Amino acid sequence: MLVKKVEIAQVMPCIADPAKIRVIAKADHRLEEVLPFLDRVIPTALYSGKAGFLTYKRGLSIITLHASGEIAMTQITDNEEAVKILNEIKDKINDTWARREEIDLSESKERIQLGPLDLYAYLPKTNCGECGEKTCMAFAMKVLNEGKKLSDCTVLAEDKYRGARDTLVSLLESAGYTIDETK
Ligand code: SF4
Repeated sequence: MLVKKVEIAQVMPCIADPAKIRVIAKADHRLEEVLPFLDRVIPTALYSGKAGFLTYKRGLSIITLHASGEIAMTQITDNEEAVKILNEIKDKINDTWARREEIDLSESKERIQLGPLDLYAYLPKTNCGECGEKTCMAFAMKVLNEGKKLSDCTVLAEDKYRGARDTLVSLLESAGYTIDETK
């Protein structure tokens, strides 16, 4: 068993829906070894080996597993749901780790096709203009055309957007973009 315990470390209001919570939890073991395998068994997973995290959607929630063992979850109803999902994640990690020899990592995963709406969904949507673009949608198009980097959106650097930022990095990397300057 790779992970014996996952504990909630921090609970905050959710940005997208203030009626819900964001949860940061910590596994009692680092996760970098299991992340490439989880990438193959979770159909919606986006994995960035370079950045050291894997992110996926579960209903409306974005779940991000970090190499360090940190687990971040957005749009969670309450503590009870958080505990239930964390138990699911722990079981998925341990089951995947136990079956790792059956999972083929030799073939690279198919690259995803990205459109501006895919990026826009995770941008702050304030249209504040800090990035030099009039709207977040214009910024999304520029990022896809490599005329802007994610780091040009200073709002996205705020801690509350961390889950969204990680998802954007994973999306871009999964579509073949280089992420060196986007974090
Ligand atoms: S800085 Fe970020 S939040 Fe502001 S307009 Fe640009 S993309 Fe949108």
